[in-house]
Amino acid sequence: MRGVVMHAPGDVRVDDLPEPTIQQPTDAIIRLAAACVCGSDLWPYRGADEVSEPKPMGHEYVGIVEQVGDQVKQIKVGDFVVGSFFASDNTCEICRAGYQTNCVHADFPGPSQAQLMRVPLADGTLVATPGHPDEDLIPSLLAASDVLGTGWFGAVAAEAGPGKTVAVVGDGAVGLLAVLAAKELGAERIIAMSRHADRQALAREFGATDIVAERGEAGIAKVRELTDGLGAHSVVEAVGTQESMMQAIGATRPGGHVGFVGVLHDVAIAGDDIFMTHVHVHGGPAPVRRFLPDLIERIWNRQINPGKVFDLTLPLDQAADAYTAMDQRTAIKVLLQP
Ligand SMILES: [Zn+2]
Repeated sequence: MRGVVMHAPGDVRVDDLPEPTIQQPTDAIIRLAAACVCGSDLWPYRGADEVSEPKPMGHEYVGIVEQVGDQVKQIKVGDFVVGSFFASDNTCEICRAGYQTNCVHADFPGPSQAQLMRVPLADGTLVATPGHPDEDLIPSLLAASDVLGTGWFGAVAAEAGPGKTVAVVGDGAVGLLAVLAAKELGAERIIAMSRHADRQALAREFGATDIVAERGEAGIAKVRELTDGLGAHSVVEAVGTQESMMQAIGATRPGGHVGFVGVLHDVAIAGDDIFMTHVHVHGGPAPVRRFLPDLIERIWNRQINPGKVFDLTLPLDQAADAYTAMDQRTAIKVLLQP
């Protein structure tokens, strides 16, 4: 089968790879209906994460179940399924508390930038859609697999809700979908922090009421200005750098909540930044599985259209162009057709 392999930073190729097989009786093999490139794939692409050996890529997926192991009971061959980037049993105490990314049996599905992929713990990890989706729903279901689920967790971790002012740091797909999540969760005012006109427009479409183009201290000052000098109740951090984290904490009012979902790269939070401000800081790799049934239902009912973050579609064989487009910010997010 064809699959995307990163050979070195900046060197992405589509290679012939062995087809995945059932390794555990709880596995499923799915045929990808669509795959995509994640903002987090850009860290190794840009050399910020080491690429010590050729690495098959991808962790976002939707597709049709082609094969299941003997112990898979709920997921059936032929189901159209959505899963998240962590495999989880969805039955242990940690899963039942809603933190499936820390499942005691957590495992990694994929890689998914390919024609076929293996999903461990299929019954716990995968959620079947009510039927085979119309073609136009596939991008949104794919978004649910990571960027929507991650933005949603960011908004939930930041306690977005009715009466709240929510600010979002980061205008990648996750940040934009955190705006959508805040809107769906009933936030009164949503401040998107973005310097790019096309992303500002999509943020507004997803529910942003205000745009702040400034960053760092100037961005914090602007958010305070918009909130009677107090700061936002809820701030979603969707980048993962020291600067964005300090911008998020600084833009939060005393006693407010930061939900951080950008994969952290050398971020250190000083005790005083949280001790003296009473800001709550909660985040991590999003337990997307917690939200999948609800997100699928909202997409299926056409209540939300998170698939709009995909502004470029390419055949899998042009994956190198997809990485270039996202690296150079000519595309927000690229969908790959296997
Ligand atoms: Zn578990």
